[in-house]
Amino acid sequence: MTPEEFRTAGHALIDWISGYMETVEQHPVLSQVKPGDIAAQLPSSPPAAPEPFSDVLADLDRVIVPGLTHWQHPSFFAYFPANSSYSAILGDLASTGVGVNGMLWATSPAATEVETVVVDWLAQLLDLPARFRVGGAGGGVIQGSASEATLSAILAARERATAGATNHTGTLGNLVAYATTQTHSSIEKGLRIAGIGSDNLRLIAIDDAFAMVPSALAAQIAIDKADGKVPFIVVASTGTTSSLAFDPVDAIGDICQRERIWLHVDGAMSGIAALCPEHRWVLDGLDKADSFCTNPHKWMGVTFDCDAMWVADRAALISALSILPEYLRTAAAEAGAVIDYRDWGIPLGRRFRALKLWFNLRLDGVAPVQAMIREHVAAAAWLVEQVRADPRFELSAPPALNLVCIHHVAGDAATDELINAANATGQALFTRTVLNGRSVLRFCIGSQATRQHHVEAGWQLLKDLAPAV
Ligand code: PLP
Repeated sequence: MTPEEFRTAGHALIDWISGYMETVEQHPVLSQVKPGDIAAQLPSSPPAAPEPFSDVLADLDRVIVPGLTHWQHPSFFAYFPANSSYSAILGDLASTGVGVNGMLWATSPAATEVETVVVDWLAQLLDLPARFRVGGAGGGVIQGSASEATLSAILAARERATAGATNHTGTLGNLVAYATTQTHSSIEKGLRIAGIGSDNLRLIAIDDAFAMVPSALAAQIAIDKADGKVPFIVVASTGTTSSLAFDPVDAIGDICQRERIWLHVDGAMSGIAALCPEHRWVLDGLDKADSFCTNPHKWMGVTFDCDAMWVADRAALISALSILPEYLRTAAAEAGAVIDYRDWGIPLGRRFRALKLWFNLRLDGVAPVQAMIREHVAAAAWLVEQVRADPRFELSAPPALNLVCIHHVAGDAATDELINAANATGQALFTRTVLNGRSVLRFCIGSQATRQHHVEAGWQLLKDLAPAV
């Protein structure tokens, strides 16, 4: 491809993306294809000769779009959102365009320094505790996902609890970790990857609101210590996946500080709510945490993948993840003058992800996200009132922010059939979860395009499909 061809194709692609975003609502939210449908439309061997860009673009519409579940659709009420703003798309494109690998400061100083600055901007916008800001012992980094952040926190906590022995002698000790049944599965996966194992994850009792009970945590820690175990990390959630439960981070933090246990706080979606001052309560107690993460790629609109992670003491993280072969030595790093972000995460190579956050904050600012969050929270409150007034439905969990969990009073079969029937229409998409052993429909209002009338249409769809009692 020549530069001129690239320029022409690039303009056409931007037009295509704009058109896709403008018309996304016309597609069924859930992809309607069956397994193998997409692969069957692709030749089994690679093209023998270069094809015209127009053919590839046409196949985006013909082959790819039908195989998409449309996360940008305003009636996407499933999972948690993955919003993609135009400003962040442009930043991502610029990042791809310059094509750098920001593994070391020296391999592209701008990639490192912009990341340091914009992650700190985000810390200011969220009003994070001073311990996570640049200039002290802590700092922030962009990880690919909240799962990567959890794994990195586990490795840093493991490093601290074993005084580095894990890395050097492979000694794991009797490490045990703490979470609840509601904590995201990335904690268990991280423990498996870290060689600690699922059996060393203690699931602490939860209260009626699905939040961790601090006294039960303290009691389990005492049992484990008496048993010769080494409690090393607690993962608290500020907004669980199933029901948006908020663990009492402040009380958990007291226990962790007393017991010298690493506290990681996972605010994958809801942490972003702290962009609105009235929702800053989601970060209560965070000044006692060792690490925290939230995903600008979820509710904020900074195109997947962008997880912002902060640590209060970067030394343990760097000690856990740094390894220095000769070919990565640089004078700047040896002089201690720079950050090498390869030491803050799992992979060596790193995309210039900070550009999409930089573009987003400069081109849009936070006002549109704040307005969207407020609109979504208000729509969720409206939905709660509708659910309360309909005898066929009950709330399955205390509603919080933008997630409403409901079930049909007739039981699991009715709830499951409702979810399947609603999703099959293609008009909206919901996710099923289980709370208190009961099937639950999660109605998450988080897509950037979602307005009140989409929530009303989604609710109407459920009402139309739900059996009478
Ligand atoms: N933590 C929570 C609370 C989540 O809800 C999710 C995903 O939705 C994750 C972690 C994992 O996020 P990611 O896809 O960024 O790894």
